Amino acid sequence: MISGEYDVVVVGAGNAGMCAALAAQENGARVLVLEAAPFDERGGNSRYTAGALRFVYNGVEDLLKLCDLSETEIATSDFGTYTQDKYYDDLGRLTDYKSNPDMAEQLITLSQETLLWMRSKGIRFAPMYSRQAFKHEGKFVFWGGLALEAWGGGPGLVEGLFKSAEDRGIEVAYEARGEHLIHDDNGVHGVVAIVEGKTTEIRAKAVVLACGGFEANAEMRTRYLGPGWDLAKVRGTRFNTGNGIKMALEIGAMSYGNWSGCHAVGWDYNAPEFGDLAVGDNFQKHSYPFAIMVNATGERFCDEGADFRNYTYAKYGREILNQPHQFAWQIFDQQVVHLQRDEYRIRQITKVVANTIEELADKMAEYAPVDKPAFLKTISDYNAAVQRDIPYNPTVKDGRTTRGLAIDKTNWAMPLEKPPYEAFCTTCGVTFTFGGVRIDTDGRVLDTAQKPISGLYAAGELVGGLFYHNYPGGTGLVSGSVFGKIAGTSAGKQVGRNT
Ligand SMILES: Cc1cc2nc3c(=O)[nH]c(=O)nc-3n(C[C@H](O)[C@H](O)[C@H](O)COP(=O)(O)OP(=O)(O)OC[C@H]3O[C@@H](n4cnc5c(N)ncnc54)[C@H](O)[C@@H]3O)c2cc1C
Repeated sequence: MISGEYDVVVVGAGNAGMCAALAAQENGARVLVLEAAPFDERGGNSRYTAGALRFVYNGVEDLLKLCDLSETEIATSDFGTYTQDKYYDDLGRLTDYKSNPDMAEQLITLSQETLLWMRSKGIRFAPMYSRQAFKHEGKFVFWGGLALEAWGGGPGLVEGLFKSAEDRGIEVAYEARGEHLIHDDNGVHGVVAIVEGKTTEIRAKAVVLACGGFEANAEMRTRYLGPGWDLAKVRGTRFNTGNGIKMALEIGAMSYGNWSGCHAVGWDYNAPEFGDLAVGDNFQKHSYPFAIMVNATGERFCDEGADFRNYTYAKYGREILNQPHQFAWQIFDQQVVHLQRDEYRIRQITKVVANTIEELADKMAEYAPVDKPAFLKTISDYNAAVQRDIPYNPTVKDGRTTRGLAIDKTNWAMPLEKPPYEAFCTTCGVTFTFGGVRIDTDGRVLDTAQKPISGLYAAGELVGGLFYHNYPGGTGLVSGSVFGKIAGTSAGKQVGRNT
């Protein structure tokens, strides 16, 4: 029930919005969260995630502040470290050093303390053995800067956030879609929302926009990402249609960041139009560094082993979208199938198996045909180019390369020669868009003169400036938490009840 005047209205009930709500409440505000989705679909993209979290830790002692680890786990695991320097390097390298320096600094320096704050609100974390560690010489070796996930993955995270909000008296309205901001020369005074089909004016002293990017809006994808993006599948929620960005731009907010860029991955060719909560992120096929990928013309089109999966997967969706008929097959043999992630063992999968490469091509043709002679040549050229004398090691960038191909595979090259062969068909799945509004270091939305719009804050996917071209895996949730907490704290302080 929406009743009376609220101090802070948060638009969007994903991770960023719920962190903002918790922070605003902590600062004494009466908070209402508007969620466009019905109760059963609440939680946005955050709920579809595995809950992987990229944050700074300098050793196992930092992990122990966030989660429980048994003595055996500590003795049999090499968690490594993920230092501030490494985080800066990764974010800089992947974004062509375009990431806004203030935002990058806040994300990185506040990453660990923000997760500790979430823990104080009841959110639990766990080591990410299944996806981020390989057993090597008797130890689980973690790689790629991701050691922890939210307990229970995205669904566990979202449940924890809602429970925490409920315990603190934060109200959430479902099927409540923010449409416009109530705004005059003195700033923002609330939101006009469609609540269960009825236009409703909700007054508030401050508004936090946290309602996602425009990835679920085919028209905006095509307009801003470019031709062909209408054909991408949406990996997560159908509710992130760019409304928050539109609401802010409507009252003069500044557009910012990589509007033509997005996070997009290889996603099952026959996955539904939008995400499926029962399947979660399992339509993705992220073990391609140990495979090769071929397109409809039977050719490889990228260096599958350019880097650890965490550093290439978010840009390879675009590569797949750019291929003829927007598909790519991943090919494995028995030497590497044990490296396939759990998502390769689900029922809803476009997979064929055969004892010869010729037969594999025929079976692939039943779903998405490739040029067979070209495909056979690609495989034999690739096999001949693998530098077999370099040792194979999936836990490091092993430098086991091919030599002499138009596009070499520069790590984890393994000839395809041990049948049965397995092929998985993928297309492009869009995760979230990179462009949005501009905020300052207090989470305040800036106008086109780069002045804060009084009473308006933002966090999460709809904020631009952090990601350009690519993205280090596990940063979306942590950035939502860091900037959600900042926005909620500023909004709560503006209301002033605790001061
Ligand atoms: C399949 C998948 C796997 C992923 N895995 C990971 C991972 O492991 N680690 C990681 O860090 N990131 C991951 N991500 C990215 C991550 O989900 C996002 O970066 C992050 O969740 C964004 O949080 P958010 O709160 O900004 O948006 P969301 O969680 O999407 O929340 C936005 C909310 O706003 C609501 N909404 C939209 N429009 C309106 C409106 N007009 N009015 C009211 N409400 C509205 C939506 O219903 C939604 O609940 C993954 C994403 C997907 C899709």
